[in-house]
Amino acid sequence: MNTKFIFVTGGVISSLGKGLTAASLGTLLESRGLKVTLQKFDPYLNVDPGTMSPFQHGEVYVLDDGAETDLDLGHYERFTHTKLTRFNSLTSGQVYQTVLDKERRGVYLGKTVQVIPHVTEEIQNRIYQIAEQSKADVVITEIGGTTGDIEGLPFLEAIREFALDVGVGNALFLHVTLVPFIKAAGELKTKPTQQSVAKLREIGISPHLLVCRCERPLAKELRQKISVFCSVPYEAVIEERDVEHSIYEVPLMLQRERLDELVCQYLRIDAPPANMSHWQDILRRIIAPQHRVRIGVVGKYIGLQDAYKSVYEALSHGGIANDCGVEIERIDAEELEKNGAERVLKGVCGLLIPGGFGDRGIEGKVLAARHARENRMPYLGLCLGMQIAAIEFARNALGMPEAHSMEFDPATPHPVIVLMDAQQNVVNKGGTMRLGAQACQLVLESRAAKLYQAFVARERHRHRFEFNSGYRDQFEQAGFMISGSSADGKLVELIELRDHPFYLACQFHPEFQSKPDAAHPLFKGFVAASLAYARERRVA
Ligand code: GLN
Repeated sequence: MNTKFIFVTGGVISSLGKGLTAASLGTLLESRGLKVTLQKFDPYLNVDPGTMSPFQHGEVYVLDDGAETDLDLGHYERFTHTKLTRFNSLTSGQVYQTVLDKERRGVYLGKTVQVIPHVTEEIQNRIYQIAEQSKADVVITEIGGTTGDIEGLPFLEAIREFALDVGVGNALFLHVTLVPFIKAAGELKTKPTQQSVAKLREIGISPHLLVCRCERPLAKELRQKISVFCSVPYEAVIEERDVEHSIYEVPLMLQRERLDELVCQYLRIDAPPANMSHWQDILRRIIAPQHRVRIGVVGKYIGLQDAYKSVYEALSHGGIANDCGVEIERIDAEELEKNGAERVLKGVCGLLIPGGFGDRGIEGKVLAARHARENRMPYLGLCLGMQIAAIEFARNALGMPEAHSMEFDPATPHPVIVLMDAQQNVVNKGGTMRLGAQACQLVLESRAAKLYQAFVARERHRHRFEFNSGYRDQFEQAGFMISGSSADGKLVELIELRDHPFYLACQFHPEFQSKPDAAHPLFKGFVAASLAYARERRVA
């Protein structure tokens, strides 16, 4: 096996952007013609993040095969062409579940089951498995958490041994660390980096490359200092400064720092330099777009940076495709309830309602959907956003003021959204929603088919409730087109208003399949429609 392995660890603090760094390195290596795959190890005990609140974890990213994963996997898919499966994501919860199942089956009969070697072996198996399945030239494995965390230790031990196993020149340790700027001193400080590297060395890992996250340029003397005290060659101390415009700057920034070159040198990979011209074009459109438009996203986790990550990214991709800068106004659904749609939505030219669970903020979202429908403002509803569109229409256009989703009002006389049949007897919460990619048949003359330029779409799902088919006829007669259904024709997947410039809502999550250089067609169409709305209404 010729696969090379890169391990990305993080020091000093969390939220350093390890995932972005790993994904950006993936971009650079792919642009050198290498086949790359990425995987994420998360040290927490949940089996997957599917049961965690966005406050804990940000967005739950869903893969084709229905795995509910960490949002870093979203970066991996957006930045590279790798196709990820549930095997690209591993948590301590999964590791222990496997080990304990084996113990019960008697696989370890006679032995004491221990963190070393049984847990570490399970972790290593996963790295080999990914290498074999993907047939990648390079496997990049990101270890979640921060060096020094107790729960991360088995993972670090596992990769330390793994590197020994595959031998010198086949595994590389890249440590992402923070070099903070201390205002009072007016300078960048290297001590936290020194200490986090010391922590790694204590465990037996000596990083080959240090990626230093910093707000200001890393001066020569500081690089020298880090190099000497961390025993890393001077050129292997790499600056990754905060980006000015967009995360899509990161690969170019790391290329300027020669990160991919150093990686190839160390891993003895013979590959031509990365051609990043397509990426430069993406960036040009982000930094200096021809047009601009302001789009509102109405949610209940608006203050959190990561709760709607893929949605924000997909909007920016829709912007790139239209050479249009998308300014996102994050609107708190509860504020809408307090201050009214008219006031809060003034100035936005398109409205997006993303997925969600629980009844907080629902009424605000209904107000927003009504505002978009009545004012002919472009609307894109995703998952819960589709259910909201249905509730709003039933209440205000079909004369059913008490219409609701059974999720929020089980006793409603007009349940336009109901629990799916397949969910009726589901008791366990983890991994039991309707998950992953499913085919969706599109109606020939629909807006959706026009946007997709196809009659079948494959989209990812994560929901328990569905549009109540009993209301199909009423909706269609009053102006909605049921423009997409599941392959068996039973589930409503897409609805759109006929007499509206762009009012489209889907039960699935298109945001998980959008890329900077290949915007999802629904997002591309939505941004174009919002831009048209802005022009028509002369809203700058
Ligand atoms: N809560 C809704 C359901 O379960 C919507 C889910 C979502 O938006 N992801 O059907």
